[in-house]
Amino acid sequence: MKQTNPSSWKLDTQLVHGGRQYSPRGAEGVPTVQPIYASTTYLHQNLGALDQAFPGMLPSGEPAYVYARQGNPNAQALENVMAQVEGGVGAVAFGSGMAAAHAAFLAAGLVPGSKLLAARDLYGSTIGLLRTTFVPAGVEIVFEDLCTPGAADIIRAEQPDIVFVETISNPLVKVTDLDAISTAAREVGAVSIVDSTFTTPYLVRPIEHGFDLVMHSATKYLNGHADSTAGVVISAKKVLLDQLRTYATLLGAMLSPFESHLVLRGLKTLALRMERQCQNALQVAHFLQQHTAVERVYYPGLADHPQHDLATRLLPSERYGGLLSFELREQSREAAFRFMDKLQLCLPVTTLGDVYSEVSYPPISSHRNLTEAERRNIGITEGCIRLSVGIEDVEDIMQDLDQALI
Ligand code: PLP
Repeated sequence: MKQTNPSSWKLDTQLVHGGRQYSPRGAEGVPTVQPIYASTTYLHQNLGALDQAFPGMLPSGEPAYVYARQGNPNAQALENVMAQVEGGVGAVAFGSGMAAAHAAFLAAGLVPGSKLLAARDLYGSTIGLLRTTFVPAGVEIVFEDLCTPGAADIIRAEQPDIVFVETISNPLVKVTDLDAISTAAREVGAVSIVDSTFTTPYLVRPIEHGFDLVMHSATKYLNGHADSTAGVVISAKKVLLDQLRTYATLLGAMLSPFESHLVLRGLKTLALRMERQCQNALQVAHFLQQHTAVERVYYPGLADHPQHDLATRLLPSERYGGLLSFELREQSREAAFRFMDKLQLCLPVTTLGDVYSEVSYPPISSHRNLTEAERRNIGITEGCIRLSVGIEDVEDIMQDLDQALI
């Protein structure tokens, strides 16, 4: 029989079968689902074998486990799939998206005296992390609008050591020109890092667009069921991968075996969920655009979105993501609270990317750490609502929004 090479499988197939530890041919009584290895320690044949296992890999290239904080088989299975689907040399799983971002900054060399150029529209806690841990340690951080056509010139002018962007920004869904950013970063010798949480490898694979490190809050779309908190960083370069592993181990930021199992299970349906979420989001965006209680809708799939053409080039056909934002005609906190309190199907929660439709109010959640003036500066008004469109029947989602908007 002709052998299939798993690396030739398409993305959807890799997501379903990528983490498996067996080949269906010749397997006898082998579980199709990997067991959850709760053990913190691992025995080896003798002290010589234990000594060899310590670096996490045997001379044969087989993974080796010694102590769970240094790695465990469930995290390894998740890391293997993520490295495969993102096209990286390897990946490291973390206990949260924030832990993943922290380790990515350290691995990229964000040390005292270095300079990070970051997109202005970052997730609020990432801005908080940079300000509270790296700025006091002597790191220079410059925030600029890197979703403009002039982003590459800004990088050339600033000459940073590291560039950090999001593929699609939170909450105003601005799109980043990944090719222009990575090219300019390479020109100035900067390490490029991208938070790809909103797009997932289903929509874009930033390593193919020249990025060095790709991070995700796996708490969101990758898991997709609102039942685990996790992060992952995929590296295009072995040297950065080794640094990531070192920081994950020393900071104790590794993902637990159980959470790894949950995220790996979520990945199996990622393609199906994303496909439905993209379809639903496009329809909901058109619906909201027509609604009298809505002033403006932000969604890259709408022709009036400032980066609609870029999004069309970067993302697969008709798939612009599951996330959108809109501004209420009555731009006040009272109106936003009133709308969200009336929802019956969509959940008013501080997360996104799950099977449920989820609505959040950025001024009290993702962008709470910013002042009102800082929020206004990046375009987040008091009437701004973020909607993560779920996989429910789209008619039910629109009906719920409609009854709460009136
Ligand atoms: N990056 C983005 C774009 C996010 O939206 C979030 C969380 O909302 C994070 C990173 C942080 O992830 P976590 O909550 O898993 O630490």
